[in-house]
Amino acid sequence: MNLILLGPPGAGKGTCARMLADKKNFFHISTGDILREEVKKGTSLGQNVRNYMESGKLVADEVILDIIEQRLENWSGGDKSFVLDGFPRTMAQAEGLESVLQKKHLFINQVILLDVPEGELIRRLSSRRVCGNCGANYNLISQPPKIPDVCDYCGGKLYQREDDREETVRNRLRIYQQEIQPLVDHYTNKGLLVRLDGEGTIDDVFQRLLTLLQLLKKDDYS
Ligand code: AMP
Repeated sequence: MNLILLGPPGAGKGTCARMLADKKNFFHISTGDILREEVKKGTSLGQNVRNYMESGKLVADEVILDIIEQRLENWSGGDKSFVLDGFPRTMAQAEGLESVLQKKHLFINQVILLDVPEGELIRRLSSRRVCGNCGANYNLISQPPKIPDVCDYCGGKLYQREDDREETVRNRLRIYQQEIQPLVDHYTNKGLLVRLDGEGTIDDVFQRLLTLLQLLKKDDYS
């Protein structure tokens, strides 16, 4: 079952997608993670997108679509499903995705929109910390690391993303509000959109997601 996870920054898309990859063997494609890796490596792509990312602006659709096309290029999948996280963010990206998938005879089975109130998002994002080595996410309030500033999984150093600072967070949420409605309408019209309550701990949200996927799977075969 191929999925798109939609939702505002801080809704838990990345963590849920990573958990789907770890626990359910999904192939996880996060455009944000891919771009952060390029910035970290200092590639020319990384240098081009760095300012956009740090100020919370969207990177050009063509750049993002190239990345997605490359990732899906050699996709043979087999029984494995993929989950798209942080993509698509604009209608041009949604349309571009459809033509990439069509070429490969692939489909999106479900689009899941994580709903979280704005106050909660700002609180979550300003207390989020990320491992600079493996990308694991922490929250200083609800999911702190065992040792301050150190990743539980790999011992890497935790940092605050430049774009998780409050002013940038507000900018990212403004951009999200402008871009999301056409995508919600588009996937609703295609009968693919389901909303999921994204409040509570990440374990609560992930459990809700698994229950939803189970129900959807049964619907597929009923
Ligand atoms: P994320 O980790 O998904 O919040 O992405 C971090 C930043 O990467 C965003 O604020 C954008 O600057 C850039 N980015 C990631 N995915 C996309 C996308 N699909 N379209 C445009 N920009 C993106």
